[in-house]
Amino acid sequence: MNIILFGPPAAGKGTQAKILEKEYGLKHLSTGDMLRAQIAEKTELGLQAKAVMDTGALVSDEIVIGMIRSYVESSSCVKGAVFDGFPRTVAQAKALDIMLSKCGKSIDKVIELQIEDDQLIGRIQKRALEEGRSDDTIEALKVRLDAYRSYAAEVLPYYKAKHIHQILDGMKSVEIVSQDLHTLIDSN
Ligand code: AMP
Repeated sequence: MNIILFGPPAAGKGTQAKILEKEYGLKHLSTGDMLRAQIAEKTELGLQAKAVMDTGALVSDEIVIGMIRSYVESSSCVKGAVFDGFPRTVAQAKALDIMLSKCGKSIDKVIELQIEDDQLIGRIQKRALEEGRSDDTIEALKVRLDAYRSYAAEVLPYYKAKHIHQILDGMKSVEIVSQDLHTLIDSN
């Protein structure tokens, strides 16, 4: 099973993806986490990406597709994955379809976590204190939310046309969202 968790920054994608990884044995693949690991290791790619990420804009398709390819080819083809923060463009979505099709797999569900902006601001402020992410500032959040709206308007229709897009209320507690996610995943 391959699932995409789609939603704005701080919608809870990472938290829910980690729960799904544990409970369904899916590999959690977060391009944001992969990029932050490159930054922590001070690689050339990490340095390039950090400058873009700190503004809240998207890094290039080439970078994220390249990063995710090795993971998809080794893990998703075995037991499936939960994608968190990827894809963010139609080019990324198409590249992912091709990677999965090479091992006879496809995306089963795209679950969109919906949450109001007011709640996101509070969550970003909390995460900034807890994790110290350099892009968790109010200025970067505005850019990230604008970026989200424009890439969601591009990517979601791609999946709606495939009839695999579903919406979940992301404003409830972690436990309730997790239960709702289970119900949705197990429903068909
Ligand atoms: P995230 O942790 O998913 O919120 O991602 C943090 C930042 O990493 C984003 O604001 C982008 O700058 C970059 N990023 C993560 N995933 C992608 C992606 N699929 N495409 C482009 N940029 C990405």
